[in-house]
Amino acid sequence: MITLSAIKADVGSIGGHTRPSEEMLDEVRHILTQKISQGLVIDGLITYTGDDIAIICTHQLGTGNQEIHLGLAWQAFLAATEIAKEQGNYGAGQDLLVDAPSGNVRGAGPGVAEIEFEINPEGGYRPAESFMVFAGDKCGPGAYNLPLYLAFCDPMHDGGLLLNPRMHQGFTFTVIDMDHKSQDTDRVIRLDVPERIWDVAALLQNPDRYAVEAIHSRFAPNEQIVSAAATRLHNIAGRYTGKDDPIAIVRNQGIFPAPEELLEPYATINQIITGDARGSHNMPQMPVAINTEVAGPYCLPLISCLGFSMNAEGKFASRYVDFFGNSAWDYARLEAQRRAAEFRRQGFFGVTMAQQAEIAYTGLVDTWNALDSEFENRHEKEVARR
Ligand code: MG
Ligand code: MG
Repeated sequence: MITLSAIKADVGSIGGHTRPSEEMLDEVRHILTQKISQGLVIDGLITYTGDDIAIICTHQLGTGNQEIHLGLAWQAFLAATEIAKEQGNYGAGQDLLVDAPSGNVRGAGPGVAEIEFEINPEGGYRPAESFMVFAGDKCGPGAYNLPLYLAFCDPMHDGGLLLNPRMHQGFTFTVIDMDHKSQDTDRVIRLDVPERIWDVAALLQNPDRYAVEAIHSRFAPNEQIVSAAATRLHNIAGRYTGKDDPIAIVRNQGIFPAPEELLEPYATINQIITGDARGSHNMPQMPVAINTEVAGPYCLPLISCLGFSMNAEGKFASRYVDFFGNSAWDYARLEAQRRAAEFRRQGFFGVTMAQQAEIAYTGLVDTWNALDSEFENRHEKEVARR
């Protein structure tokens, strides 16, 4: 069995929430290379999307493994944090929310997407392993809800649901309740589609609380197709700490949706999500090439997507397709910026700022609390007398 792990964190960036420095990336790369030469990791690469560094790697240690989560990822992010501090970079160590995580980095700040699978399993239904890694910056935790819903539930966006008899058997969504604050348990629900697409839709429409954590095939129920990081940093830290910026792995082709079906919502919908400036606004998400810094107006939320093929040994990292780097996505970029400008005309009023549940972790609450004592209760009769 091969485990594919994608772990990302913001541990500091140049001149604001823009991008990590080359030296920080080199340090993370150096630690990954060490782990590969020690035989712990099979293959991997380091990328960035906005201010987040992503470690994408394969190994045989299973999901949630301590050697990968702590020995590789946490140590690499700590080392990059030290460099960020030396360089005076902004937000050094921002996403490392606990002093010493135990076991794995889940719930400690970094975002994690992981899938364990067999290469070319018995039955011959998946002779080639092909997958994508999405990384968002300035994005709320449920940023994948709508694109995944459309690709796995809606033939208007994914004709493969009708054309491919194995996809036609449907999928199982695992949705996590991100408001559940427990050290020991997660609160999740598993729903089969298409039978329960409206129940899935009813949950996913609130991306600040519910997020797709996993999707499995029903044709081959032990095949996990999607793993997405789904945590809310302020639930861990109890205060605003930066955005959640989820990362996701999506296996594709064959019995799963094809890349073009998975990417279609990013072109046609340009969804408006929570994130942006101070993590407290709503704006459309803009698809960008890998290793793109945040430089656009008001921290427009970014999404990158790499496509890979994996060989029988679990090697994949030396060749990739940078989907959103292609000029075919220029139109979607312009459209996102055009819609963002429309939103910005309304400033902070109403829907242009994040939902109240998110604002609850910002300084706005201090102002509301301070004004609270100046409110007075007025009786209805007094109004009538005026
Ligand atoms: Mg940041
Ligand atoms: Mg970020």
